[in-house]
Amino acid sequence: MKKPKILILGSNFAGLQVARHLRDHVKEKDAEITVVDRRNYLLFIPNIPLEIFEDRDPDKTQLLPLIPIYEKDGTKFIQAEVTKIDVDKKQVEVIPNERPGSAIETLSYDYLVVAVGNKLAFDKIEGFSKFGHSVTDTYQANKLHKYLVEEYKGGKIVIGSARFNQGSKGRLDFIPTALAACEGPPVELALSLAHWLEKHGKGSAKNITIFTPAELIAEDAGENNVHKLLEIASGMGFSYVNKTEDITRLTAEGIEFANGTKLEAELKIVLPDWEAHSFLRNLPITDEKGFVITDEYLKNPDYPEVYACGDAASATVPKIGSIGHYQSYIVANQIAKDLGFMNAEEADKEKYRPEVICYGDMGGGKAFYIHANTWYTYGGKTEILNMGRSYYDMKVQFRHAYFMAGGKLPYSMWKFGTWLGDEI
Ligand SMILES: Cc1cc2nc3c(=O)[nH]c(=O)nc-3n(C[C@H](O)[C@H](O)[C@H](O)COP(=O)(O)OP(=O)(O)OC[C@H]3O[C@@H](n4cnc5c(N)ncnc54)[C@H](O)[C@@H]3O)c2cc1C
Repeated sequence: MKKPKILILGSNFAGLQVARHLRDHVKEKDAEITVVDRRNYLLFIPNIPLEIFEDRDPDKTQLLPLIPIYEKDGTKFIQAEVTKIDVDKKQVEVIPNERPGSAIETLSYDYLVVAVGNKLAFDKIEGFSKFGHSVTDTYQANKLHKYLVEEYKGGKIVIGSARFNQGSKGRLDFIPTALAACEGPPVELALSLAHWLEKHGKGSAKNITIFTPAELIAEDAGENNVHKLLEIASGMGFSYVNKTEDITRLTAEGIEFANGTKLEAELKIVLPDWEAHSFLRNLPITDEKGFVITDEYLKNPDYPEVYACGDAASATVPKIGSIGHYQSYIVANQIAKDLGFMNAEEADKEKYRPEVICYGDMGGGKAFYIHANTWYTYGGKTEILNMGRSYYDMKVQFRHAYFMAGGKLPYSMWKFGTWLGDEI
């Protein structure tokens, strides 16, 4: 008997967790699992801002090597660029990328998991490369840190997001339309940067304006939670601007918005649109923007051997890692069920229902914790906002635990973490 082939594209939060959780149910003798990523390490993106505002280089602290993890699990890892998916032939084309010039390799699959995240569209923001800053990867974050330390003159700072262009075709009916993909980072950034400015004698919250394309920033985090956070922020001296619609241009003088307004600023820290990768566009499994369409078990309705989780899935809104991580348990359970290694009752128990769970650094050893599922069609009743030193400890300790466990957290531990966040 030939072993079934499970191919996982992407190995950051969503892909790594699917691969690791699957091995709990499907042993090496029972299925071949292959993971493809262009990098051979996981980048712990959520803690990048915290690292630079504590004056550390995230390149040295937030990278988890993947090869020893997959070796231990008996899972094959290929470092390569995914360039094409053919869902009718059940094949994926990849180009090994350790050295330039590699020929295209074709991989076949019985089950495919798309967990490749998104492209962050900085290239669509006019003036970004010359006048913009961000924190979405170690390069951008270190560049921002260097600017703050060496060049910042104490001028005005704007922090906010470009408009998210979400797809609608085949979208689950409980997923709302979002005008920004992920607005935890701008809120967190504003708070921790204000602390950094004060600590270094370079300013305070009064230097910073937070902006959003939407009616309310981070609206997915629960209206009451956000209003409480905004009240605190305004008391600290932050300014806040909403309904900017989109970013049209960054200039030396400031930022210009699609609603026709402008803000003067020395430092422009922006989060771009989260776009689907070009190789996902115009496929029978994706919506009009290239996000993979799924049902409540993260399975494509027309190609049931194709699953998607994390930022690449149309079901993931907002685009946050905690949702992708949670979805990965469902995907692994479903594939284990399809292969006969988990009974249907157990696997189908957990259907995807989104919740926002987020720990945000506030600087000075404090953090906020948000747990909410009240956003429009999310339809839940939970709206929790907690703040303090314990939440900072949890944010930092979660990263330690995650690295120690090689990215593998049992579902019970995941639930325990949420319970702890809610209760303490
Ligand atoms: C500054 C910042 C702070 C954040 N803070 C939080 C937070 O506090 N909490 C939270 O829950 N979320 C947070 N997020 C969001 C979170 O980082 C993402 O939602 C999460 O990383 C998505 O995980 P993913 O595995 O789906 O995709 P990604 O993390 O984007 O991983 C995709 C993987 O696919 C690989 N890949 C992509 N294209 C290809 C290709 N063509 N070929 C081969 N490999 C490819 C990439 O190398 C990568 O390893 C934050 C985001 C930012 C930018």
